[in-house]
Amino acid sequence: MLLRQCRRCGAPYLFQTLCGWNSSGTITTMAPKASLRVAFVEQGELHALIDGITEAIGFPIDEIVSRGEEKAQKSSVTELLSEKMLRGWLFRSKGFTRRFIGGVTSVAACLGHGKAELIEFTREKSLLMRMYDPYALPLVIGDLKGVYEAYFQTASKVTILERGETPMIRIEKAGPVDREEDPQRLQLKEVPTVPGEITLTRCRGCGTPSEMTDAVTWDTAKGTIHCKSTGRRLVMIIVEAINAVIRELGWELGETVNEMVQRFEQRYIAEVYAGVGADGSPEAYKRLLSDPAAFGQCNPVEVIKERNLLTVRVDNPFCEPLLAGKVAGLYEAVEKVRAKAVWTPASAGYAVIQAWPV
Ligand SMILES: [Zn+2]
Repeated sequence: MLLRQCRRCGAPYLFQTLCGWNSSGTITTMAPKASLRVAFVEQGELHALIDGITEAIGFPIDEIVSRGEEKAQKSSVTELLSEKMLRGWLFRSKGFTRRFIGGVTSVAACLGHGKAELIEFTREKSLLMRMYDPYALPLVIGDLKGVYEAYFQTASKVTILERGETPMIRIEKAGPVDREEDPQRLQLKEVPTVPGEITLTRCRGCGTPSEMTDAVTWDTAKGTIHCKSTGRRLVMIIVEAINAVIRELGWELGETVNEMVQRFEQRYIAEVYAGVGADGSPEAYKRLLSDPAAFGQCNPVEVIKERNLLTVRVDNPFCEPLLAGKVAGLYEAVEKVRAKAVWTPASAGYAVIQAWPV
């Protein structure tokens, strides 16, 4: 019922209820306090990042990734549940925990995170879930822990009972956490934004922008979203969450993490865009960067090409190293050369990214 889709464009109505598209190139959730920014990324980008960093440092980073995601998710769900009206409705209704779990799994399916099936729920607050097509297991575990801890207001423990394509996960109440966390590490970064002039055409059936619904297709039974032209899977992520994951990796592994993120994104983009067949004009690059704009990643306002130097100004970048990797990867795919990139931090709401051949 929650996943009913628009007859005109195929977008789940829930999607339009959850998300608001802004002329600044950002998408924000329609949560009561409307403070969460979200964006579409390719599932392959997330995997390229996790696998690439794991390979580079020589040990798995799943636990660090889960922790970053968990913090962001816990903070956003806590904020949502702090709304008296929602809390009142949830806790008054019969079987509210099951209803809450049903709501959360529907939202996850609508955002392309895969399908989660509740196998067992006990009064001791233990949940047994079967996951189908999870978008990335370490992120799913972070999501589960974050939502669980915000809802039950207790620490949690996750056990993966079965791995593979349809993992089985148990999440339950845990004793007090023995590790003291630096409060700075629990804070989410506010991403500053500047206004923009992006105009989007709205579907007459549901109001979702056609720039997005023309480009993607939903399978709400599976909880997946695919790009129509490339066939690649897309997922919607909380912008603060991806930044929290990268920051968490930075705390653990040092500052070079940002460069690694850029490098592995660049490698992925160069690979999937190989043979894109665009000329190297600024207009062609702007066109290639228009998808990130409809997907809430940024507003690419200026593209300049001087000799071999490509300079892109993006307003409201969702994540600077990821976008720098994207620009450099596109440069490699279009110019058929190896490229290097630098970027400025978006502390004033915009970043300048430059790419050139090496
Ligand atoms: Zn529609």
